[in-house]
Amino acid sequence: MTWHILGAGSLGSLWATRLARAGLPVRLILRDRARLRAYEAAGGLTLVEQDQARQYAIPAELPSTASPISRLLVACKAYDAEAAVQPLLPHLSPGAELILLQNGLGSQDAVALRLPHTRCVLASSTEGAFRDGDWRVVFAGHGFTWLGDPLQPAAPIWLNELEHAGIPYGWTPDILSRLWRKLALNCAINPLTVLYDCRNGGLLEHPAEVSVLCVELAELLQRCGQPDAADGLHEEVLRVIQATAANYSSMYQDVAHGRRTEISYLLGHACATATRHRLSLPHLDRLHTRLKTYLQQRGLPVT
Ligand code: NAP
Repeated sequence: MTWHILGAGSLGSLWATRLARAGLPVRLILRDRARLRAYEAAGGLTLVEQDQARQYAIPAELPSTASPISRLLVACKAYDAEAAVQPLLPHLSPGAELILLQNGLGSQDAVALRLPHTRCVLASSTEGAFRDGDWRVVFAGHGFTWLGDPLQPAAPIWLNELEHAGIPYGWTPDILSRLWRKLALNCAINPLTVLYDCRNGGLLEHPAEVSVLCVELAELLQRCGQPDAADGLHEEVLRVIQATAANYSSMYQDVAHGRRTEISYLLGHACATATRHRLSLPHLDRLHTRLKTYLQQRGLPVT
């Protein structure tokens, strides 16, 4: 069965090239005719791994002319996912499955609502990749991808293809807990690195602020029925800050490059969920306001 990959950015290209390298059928779906022409001129997607570059001539198509889709990996940013999936709805075969790679929460529900009869598998990945040129992806950090479906605990049959492609993964019935935990870690670290203009390790100078955010985030996780995601949150945040002290967070890098952030699906989603549960989290709210002001001052979207 063909892997259709929507979005040939960092993570989409990392998946596409590894699946293609394993001899599995892969097709890219690109945004528009101009992007398709540029891709065809480049001749394929290049994966750079351990300083070795190798190109894969993966076929690509447009949403309007996509071949019938049975398995779709949605590899856009959270804010693009719903709109990007929309034109593909008429091309989905009966029984089609989607794998949603988006970070944070909120975009998955938005996509799933449009597809009430289609299985949506959610993913939470710690793999790292970036583009060092158009149609070129650098595999920057080995990691692991958790996959799961909150509505259907049985694992899909195609998981063995990931193994075959060398994509480290695990299947979990508790993918929402994983996504919430990652969201909470992100909320406790990333916005502060933007506001203090520092690497992750710079937050060691702001322990009280980190600590109070962890208390509020744990309260939120408890309130929305995710006690496992709340368990030991502060300790893990401190561990991550120490282990990644020399790194710049993904949100920091987005802002530094003048790119739109996924704020609405991370801190924004946390604050909106708290409001829905009538939970007052003043420090988290204040952080959200400060971050939006900071983005606005730099001409970046606040959603
Ligand atoms: P990215 O490099 O910006 O790639 C997103 C891709 O989606 C771009 O190639 C973009 O096309 C494409 N796209 C957007 N709208 C589209 C449309 N309507 N039709 C077709 N393609 C469309 O983003 P990323 O870093 O791979 O991130 C994807 C998701 O994975 C995010 O939620 C991110 O947080 C998460 N994630 C990323 C990493 C990582 O290391 N990169 C790690 C873990 C999680 P153009 O090229 O034409 O702009």
